Amino acid sequence: MSGLPFKAGFAALVGKPNVGKSTLLNAFLKFKLSIVSPKPQTTRHKIMGIYDGENCQICFLDTPGLLPHPRDPLQDALRRSLRAAARDDADVLVFLVEPGIPGDEDLNAFAALSRPDIPAILALNKTDLPAKPAIVDETLKAYSEALKPQAVVRVSALKGQGVPELLREILSRMPESPPFYDRGRLSDRWERFFAAELIREQVFALYGEELPHASAVVIEDFKEKQSGPDRVSAILYVERDGQKGIIIGKKGRALRELVEKSQRAMEDFLGRRVDLDVWIKVRKNWRKDPNSLKEFGYI
Ligand code: GDP
Ligand code: MG
Repeated sequence: MSGLPFKAGFAALVGKPNVGKSTLLNAFLKFKLSIVSPKPQTTRHKIMGIYDGENCQICFLDTPGLLPHPRDPLQDALRRSLRAAARDDADVLVFLVEPGIPGDEDLNAFAALSRPDIPAILALNKTDLPAKPAIVDETLKAYSEALKPQAVVRVSALKGQGVPELLREILSRMPESPPFYDRGRLSDRWERFFAAELIREQVFALYGEELPHASAVVIEDFKEKQSGPDRVSAILYVERDGQKGIIIGKKGRALRELVEKSQRAMEDFLGRRVDLDVWIKVRKNWRKDPNSLKEFGYI
């Protein structure tokens, strides 16, 4: 036990697709509990992963805000709400970039996420790859002028180079606070959480625009078996009888597809066999009901 005060907070990882956000997150979480959201665009909860250190807990927030061009109004709405949430919730912003001189569109997209009262760190990734020093300098200069970071760190998320330094820079800007989430008891919670998210993800994939927003998933039972597949039982809540009919589909075909695909996604995620049941229930206007929102984990 050291005498250091406990620090805890939220760090938003901001970066364009493919810049290495997931790789960096895995590098941070290597020795610790590591859970990465498989498809952030469909996630209402914004946490990608939690780093539990000896005297700290850093919750990494997902920011799908830098999808260059949202494909539909739903993506656009999600993008905007998540962007606002990440920005409002973050204690530290980490802008992850790679060598390559940014255009105005990029700089504006990044700058729209920054706020003068939230410390920003600029992290240049993929430094293990050969790059012209002039390009690297230009890249850092352009982003530094646009974002006014308090620190600039060069990393290779892939090789782990610079990752401890970056973690230290983040940690040094975290507020003193008790942990936000139970320490050590996370994995069960997270398995349930992701099981529910994986079902929701399939609802997004399989049904029209309105239904996913009217859907909530609660994992009722999650049993690991000594032999044989895990047993997972979920309730999918919708808001109206008509929606229940759509979820189930003709002769139950749509529901069967939902269950099969969700089950497969869970098996991939958990690395174990899963036996999944999904029950459909109607909870009238649950989105307007504080008790339901609480029960479903949204507040
Ligand atoms: P994300 O879309 O921002 O989450 O990016 P990913 O973490 O999925 O990484 C995209 C690609 O870049 C993958 O092929 C990674 O292996 C690669 N990548 C990520 N970080 C590095 C790095 O530091 N060096 C190199 N050479 N490749 C990297
Ligand atoms: Mg990723």
